[in-house]
Amino acid sequence: MKKSKQDLVIAIDGHSSGGKSTYAKMIAKELGITYVDSGAMYRAVTLYAMENNLIRDNIIDGQELVRQLDQISIEIIFNPEEDRYETWLNGRNIEKEIRTVAVSNYVSPVSKIREVREAMVDLQRKMSRDKGVVMDGRDIGTVVFPDADIKIYLTAEPDIRAQRRFDELKQKGMEAGYDEILENIMDRDHQDSTRDISPLKKADDAIELDNSSMTPEEQMVWFMNKLEEKFG
Ligand code: C5P
Repeated sequence: MKKSKQDLVIAIDGHSSGGKSTYAKMIAKELGITYVDSGAMYRAVTLYAMENNLIRDNIIDGQELVRQLDQISIEIIFNPEEDRYETWLNGRNIEKEIRTVAVSNYVSPVSKIREVREAMVDLQRKMSRDKGVVMDGRDIGTVVFPDADIKIYLTAEPDIRAQRRFDELKQKGMEAGYDEILENIMDRDHQDSTRDISPLKKADDAIELDNSSMTPEEQMVWFMNKLEEKFG
């Protein structure tokens, strides 16, 4: 039986700041399905750890964080006024706070903790149960949805990714230097691809797309062609 577009599960993985979320949002809008930013969830756990004194002198108290995992409630709620999905932590909108360089600096070590990953993967699957979804992250095509209908592995040159991130933060009125951003991106790429549990890697059946010199519109044309090829 032909699958309807509203039921598709689409996984987008790739390096940091490669434009995954912009792409995923555009696809979700085009197909009328839900968008889930899995990175936002790891960022929310990281913010929780920072705010609850579980990160001191650059050291994360992983054991205590795992003990407190059941006190962390994360929701992704659509805000029609802003026309975007926003992340909530224990009843508080934290969409802006989780994008800071401070959170970016700790999120990769927090994401290495097995129990944190297990809790986030559970939540990601729950959020998308019985409905079409576009989810972006690092392990969506390999671990979260190994049977996804379409898997995209998005890449772009590191300097282009850093520039995009710099422009995005500037536009949001958030302070951060280009060099600091580039360093953070390279560091997270390394940590995310070399960790023991669910490292970032291209799923065997993912289609790779280097968007270094593509506009979002060109990427959408590419996606719609792939969709047509696969599902007619
Ligand atoms: O996507 P974003 O850059 O916001 O993700 C922040 C961090 O969360 C990544 O650098 C990675 O350490 C972690 N992450 C992950 N698995 C995912 C999504 C994000 O480990 N599926």
